Amino acid sequence: MKPTLSFLDVQQKRKLKDFLTSCEPKKIQPHELAIKTSLSIEHSLMVFAEFAENKTWKQTDLIYHKCNPGVPILSCDLGSFELPIKCSLCEENIEALDEIVIEQIADLSTLVNLEEIFSE
Ligand SMILES: [Zn+2]
Repeated sequence: MKPTLSFLDVQQKRKLKDFLTSCEPKKIQPHELAIKTSLSIEHSLMVFAEFAENKTWKQTDLIYHKCNPGVPILSCDLGSFELPIKCSLCEENIEALDEIVIEQIADLSTLVNLEEIFSE
């Protein structure tokens, strides 16, 4: 299986490929990918989902607690995060999902099979 990116048109795919092969910065989040490639945030999230599912790149979850939205309290493998945890910043026990924000981050240095994905 390879990502099909069937929700993107030819021009969007070209922009995405151009960005991914220029590879700066090395780590990127969905909203950044959307800005850099002019994709909608929905499409950007779909790219993240397809690439994660097909192991096209290594993707990590960053966990933020509401006590400090600017500093992640934890970084873990995609989908491996489970509550409850203790916040490393405020030491509060976190038991509900609405106390945290989870952000995906992809490591562009781990990209594989780019040529294959974008070949027609
Ligand atoms: Zn906290």
